Amino acid sequence: MKRFVLLGIVISLFSASYAHADTGKISLVHPNQIYSYTEMLDDITELVEKYPDLVQSKVLAKTKFDRDIVAVRLGKGEDAKVVIAGSHHAREHMTTNLVMEMIDEYTQAFAVNGVIDGFDVRQELTKGSIWFIPMVNPDGVMLQQEGLKDFPEEAHTDLVKWNNGSTDFTRWKANAEGIDPNRQYPAAWDDVKDNTGKHSWAMFKGSKPQEIIEVQAVMDLTNEVNPEMVISYHSSGEVLYWWHHNKADVIARDRELANELVAKTGYLLMEPKRDPSGGGYTDWFIKNFGRPAFTPEIGEFVRDQNLPIGAFSRVWKQNNSIGLWSLNRGYDLWLKRQTITPEMLEQKLILTESVKLYMEPSFTSKYSATLLPQTVTTLEKRGNWHLIHTWLGQRWIFTPPHTLAIFEKLDARVPLSELVVMYDKSFRMETRMGTLAPQELIILGGYRAQGWYQIHTWLGPKWVILPGLEIIPEAPVDEAVVELGL
Ligand SMILES: [Zn+2]
Repeated sequence: MKRFVLLGIVISLFSASYAHADTGKISLVHPNQIYSYTEMLDDITELVEKYPDLVQSKVLAKTKFDRDIVAVRLGKGEDAKVVIAGSHHAREHMTTNLVMEMIDEYTQAFAVNGVIDGFDVRQELTKGSIWFIPMVNPDGVMLQQEGLKDFPEEAHTDLVKWNNGSTDFTRWKANAEGIDPNRQYPAAWDDVKDNTGKHSWAMFKGSKPQEIIEVQAVMDLTNEVNPEMVISYHSSGEVLYWWHHNKADVIARDRELANELVAKTGYLLMEPKRDPSGGGYTDWFIKNFGRPAFTPEIGEFVRDQNLPIGAFSRVWKQNNSIGLWSLNRGYDLWLKRQTITPEMLEQKLILTESVKLYMEPSFTSKYSATLLPQTVTTLEKRGNWHLIHTWLGQRWIFTPPHTLAIFEKLDARVPLSELVVMYDKSFRMETRMGTLAPQELIILGGYRAQGWYQIHTWLGPKWVILPGLEIIPEAPVDEAVVELGL
């Protein structure tokens, strides 16, 4: 009897989601359909519920017609970040299907420790995170998909007028204020070509840069995330834009990355033009961050339409691993940007877990042995990678914050209100030296994250555990005040 009840539950779960017969994986996103704003919101909610440690969502802004512009963070890594955006343009909503399918496939692969196109999904999503904005322009997408019925009546007259009198909105590209979101960014905005000069279903650049909330939301998130790379998906034509006055010192880097994208997608690389149009998201990112940004136009060319749904399988094959690729390359870029300050060098680290010894600061480099928990000295630091001396010579170790303790020199007096145990050695509970009565402690330094502090005693430096101790540095002396006092 019990077995039948259980079976019933399993079947009803599976009817809500689609099961891959071969792997037992469960898809939440169904990309082979006209994918609406509400479908997207439902899928994001489900993804966040199913993978709370891996997926988070955030409402960036509300549009004029009260729809949410949502960002989804995928990944646990705090180091490298990338941003991938879809549906700046209304009729290009297959880009939303594409990025939502990436989130779906990457989360499933993470769960089973899978590999996609050679990318170890867990490894990538632990080093960094991908911020997706699956639908930058939800008002425009819904107008394109559903026509006027999802819009209040008082808006109809303008929308029809901006659509040259037509109630067929299938060619619509703009947001629902008749402004083109990808001609709105403050990058060569004055040079935007073919501007209509008035509200329209396409091409109107607005009366000033970043005047629409969609663009402001994307810019705010980008500034907050500080990504290493941006990919802004559009349709159609199977071409790739990568250039907008890229500076001389980064052009080779960006072209090489563009060529990698071309190798994967088969898209046509667009060569730099002497006089490019501006105002696009990636134009702005390249200009302001000096980092690589790409605009792939997915799907074989269709004129003034959304892509037919049958185009998706080809689009997916060409782009399935691009999210992971961008994060992988973004991490390399992030590593290169990490500057080493003298204080970081010769830093003593206490490893609280075993670590692997690598030849290079990269998971793809060879590793030769494992180092047990112990104290090591950093010779060089790149992100969470540390170069250390070992019996094998110099080797790199990867040390996420929880695997190491960093000794900080402190010079503070802290009143002690309870008895504490005093130890001879840090992290060695078996080296008890007795207890200290309440008194003022002189703290010499410590491992703050772990709560171990070195104190001055008549027996020499000893150790105590003071979890949650906050040491507030003494306020700097204001010289002017001192003079007045004299
Ligand atoms: Zn577009």
